[in-house]
Amino acid sequence: MTQVFDNGKIVIQVLNRNNYEGYFVGGCVRDYLLKRKIKDVDITTNATPDVIEQLFKKTIDVGKEHGTIIVVMNGEPIEVTTYRSESEYSDRLDDDLKHRDFTMNAIAMNEELVVYDPYEGQADIKNQLIKTVGFAKERFEEDALRMLRALRFSTQLKFQIHHSTFEAIIQHASSIQHVSIERIMSEIKKMYESNHINQNKQQIIDSSLFNFMPVFKQFNQELYLNFKTNNFPEEIATQIYFEHVDVERLTELRISNDEINEIKLILKILMHHQSYKDARILSYDFEKSLLERSLKLINENQVILSTDTTNLEFAISISDDLPIKSIKDLAINGRDIMAITNRGPGPWLKETLQKIVYLVVTDQLENTTEQLNEWVSQHVKD
Ligand code: ATP
Ligand code: MG
Repeated sequence: MTQVFDNGKIVIQVLNRNNYEGYFVGGCVRDYLLKRKIKDVDITTNATPDVIEQLFKKTIDVGKEHGTIIVVMNGEPIEVTTYRSESEYSDRLDDDLKHRDFTMNAIAMNEELVVYDPYEGQADIKNQLIKTVGFAKERFEEDALRMLRALRFSTQLKFQIHHSTFEAIIQHASSIQHVSIERIMSEIKKMYESNHINQNKQQIIDSSLFNFMPVFKQFNQELYLNFKTNNFPEEIATQIYFEHVDVERLTELRISNDEINEIKLILKILMHHQSYKDARILSYDFEKSLLERSLKLINENQVILSTDTTNLEFAISISDDLPIKSIKDLAINGRDIMAITNRGPGPWLKETLQKIVYLVVTDQLENTTEQLNEWVSQHVKD
């Protein structure tokens, strides 16, 4: 359990030997005290980024202007951040802890794993409480994202948000609209990845934070509450499906194209799976994993998504046995077809290929060069 700290300890020792302070801080200390799996180890120090770079052989500048340098120790990347108060560097650990968001995240720990805990974060961890360092109102005025982080941690850790902290969230909720959507989405995704989002939905609604975020503000609260989901793309796809939100608005969330495409595909499956006349085509059109995720989504939400899943189930069952997975698997290509028919390129070519795909997937044509060549010479006029 404590060996995750081994490389961090070396970093702290090097800092100490050079007369600088160094402490473990933030999520790794919290998760260590909670006996949760520790993802990454963060260290805070009074050494400036330039000094950190000088002291260690291998460093990566990931945000020097924010005081953060990655020190690579025995191959492990460790974030080392210079003490800071709200906007500038500081030479005091106390200033650094004071500007952190919640008491549970404001505990420092030395290389012997002895904690320094001026805001009684350990007591709050024991009581499973999320409480701001200092007055919630002021802390949320400094940085409104902290309100969403409170919800994110409450979802992830199944902790209560302290009532005065939650009251301040309700009061200041609207100011989340001034936070960059990138920072917001990073917290929202962590919330969805946690698997506990369903239990926390009432609180998320009560906070009213979602009313001040693009796209989310158009979603129906009641539906959201009753809707079981364990994944961000599924949730968004279903909301769009019900609320008829224009998918193009997804770009407002500044999520990656891959994520947008995944949402669009799930949405397409939800919208069209029943209307496929031949489930083999459904199976061909979408990746098996996406079909499976959509089926799970529908099954877990029978009441609101009550659709006939026969097509979907069949499509999944035959997915591994389809004669072709994509147009590239055809034993013929566009150039072959043009040669056989003696015609130049044009929309007809794509149509022909699609027709062949349809016939092969529905077992009306065998995927051999011979069979496909013959079909083309018989059916495509030159
Ligand atoms: P996770 O396990 O999800 O990474 P974490 O606590 O490490 O949780 P990070 O977002 O990685 O969360 O932030 C690291 C630390 O930086 C936090 O524990 C907290 O002390 C501080 N911090 C992060 N964001 C803020 C913020 N908006 N305001 C104040 N302190 C913050
Ligand atoms: Mg972290």
